[in-house]
Amino acid sequence: MKVLRYVGLIVVVGAIVAVAACSQSTAQAKKPKVVIVATGGTIAGAAKSETEAGYKSGAVGVDILIEAVPSLKDLAVVTGEQVASIGSQDMNDEVWLKLGNKVNELLAKSDVNGVAITHGTDTMEETSYFLDLVVKSDKPVVLTGSMRPSTAMSADGPLNIYNAVAIAADPAARGRGVLVTVDDDIHSAHDIVKTHTTDVGTMSSGEAGLVGATLFGKNTWYRVPAQVHTSKSEMSITGVTALPRVDIIYAHANMSPDMISSAVTNGAKGIVIAGVGDGNMTAPAVEAMKAAVAKGVVVVRSSRTNGGIIRRNIEVSDDELGTVASMELNPAKARVLLQLALLKTQDPKKIQDYFNRY
Ligand code: ASP
Repeated sequence: MKVLRYVGLIVVVGAIVAVAACSQSTAQAKKPKVVIVATGGTIAGAAKSETEAGYKSGAVGVDILIEAVPSLKDLAVVTGEQVASIGSQDMNDEVWLKLGNKVNELLAKSDVNGVAITHGTDTMEETSYFLDLVVKSDKPVVLTGSMRPSTAMSADGPLNIYNAVAIAADPAARGRGVLVTVDDDIHSAHDIVKTHTTDVGTMSSGEAGLVGATLFGKNTWYRVPAQVHTSKSEMSITGVTALPRVDIIYAHANMSPDMISSAVTNGAKGIVIAGVGDGNMTAPAVEAMKAAVAKGVVVVRSSRTNGGIIRRNIEVSDDELGTVASMELNPAKARVLLQLALLKTQDPKKIQDYFNRY
């Protein structure tokens, strides 16, 4: 009789455990699926000690980054993919194409709700904008990084990753283009710029402002970026194996024409001038720009000021010179749009139309 009672008890306890396990796995199954795509950067950096300023970017793999934030499992079913392990100062066209194709491949899967990308902060403004132009989906894509390596005292990476996954899993993030979250802010890829060499609060969206804010994974949304992006973008990297060379040339007092002529001689298909003020440069540089346009090179005038809009025909006559005005895009972002636009056309008028809308 006693034995039977024990057996009964064991069966009941077993049933409770099975039901609990089953409801736990149902709860996990109901969670959104987010893939973290890692590319390296300081967020995956390691130093000799927690107070050492020098470190190696991209030393830590995606699985370790995920393991370091156990609370991610409360937000989503998270898996990782490693696309590169580089400091983003080494970011290049090849990795961009690989990353863009990987994100498109992941988002095409019906069970993937969003993608979070870990990336160095140095060129995050370029990579995020590249993806904003070539990702063919409205699902959330969010980049994040950190200013302190993963081994540092008060490392900023883990919370940034947590927030990035929360945004990637949030249906309200859909249709807002590629986003960047760092330091509890949510930026549009179109607007974000790195503004400080070492401060944790280095990222800014300038005059355009934030798209939203987040606090421990709870998101607040302010706006939808107005420019053409992601699923509506005409830019595409399908079947593309290389991007055209586009150089950026920094204008300054007493600027010589030599850098412009040298870019043309070395095979640039496009040139972006980081002009002084409203996209201006010295008279000899204007002459070199004219000669470059005559050779079929597309020249875009941007500004080194990192604020305001570079419009056509203000102090430089774009109509006469056949140049393009970069509108809101800073030189680094103008370079990305020009590379992708050159895959479609070399006509400065058509390219100006892209700069007006993207
Ligand atoms: N140099 C680093 C990188 O861009 C800086 C960082 O991630 O904050 O990869």
